[in-house]
Amino acid sequence: MVTIGVLALQGDVAEHVRALENSGARVLLVRRQSELEAVDGLVIPGGESTTMSNLLLSFDLFDALGARIRAGMPVYGTCAGMIMLASTILDGREDQRSFGALDMVVRRNAFGRQVDSYEEDLDVTGLQGGPFHAVFIRAPWVESVGEGVEVIARAGNSADGPIVAVRRGRIMATSFHPEVGGDDRIHGLFVDMVARA
Ligand code: GLN
Repeated sequence: MVTIGVLALQGDVAEHVRALENSGARVLLVRRQSELEAVDGLVIPGGESTTMSNLLLSFDLFDALGARIRAGMPVYGTCAGMIMLASTILDGREDQRSFGALDMVVRRNAFGRQVDSYEEDLDVTGLQGGPFHAVFIRAPWVESVGEGVEVIARAGNSADGPIVAVRRGRIMATSFHPEVGGDDRIHGLFVDMVARA
């Protein structure tokens, strides 16, 4: 059985724990370096990326987590977690930091201030069992990806729609919140990625 951490400094932690446990993983909340060392993979949840960046620094976790990601630990970022994995952030705050784990440009709050949230059924490459009901909450999108980063979903399921899910090897990121709504297939995909790592 794999042990997957959920970064638990801030954001919607409990729903990820439930979805990962349903997918057969043992789950550990990660707030300190010793907990980070005990996990085989990590979920960075949604929340608020500028706050998360600050908390990672003040909990002395930023460098340790960056080092584990560079060493190949599987990681899955949702929403604010996607922003944390980006190499470039647009509409971010000056002092906001990210891991640069995926070569991609991510725009915060990209769907516009008037669209606080929306939902749609998305086709996700590599996901068995049909479209995934995706919930977006003040979500970012990916404006561009570098070589090697695979686009696995676009808003509107249209070839020129904004990129909302990406993957490179054992690193995955989605703009939306797969932990709400009770469909745990994306968590299942991540648990499989960790098990294979
Ligand atoms: N807008 C938030 C941010 O910039 C992300 C929203 C979310 O995670 N639901 O961090």
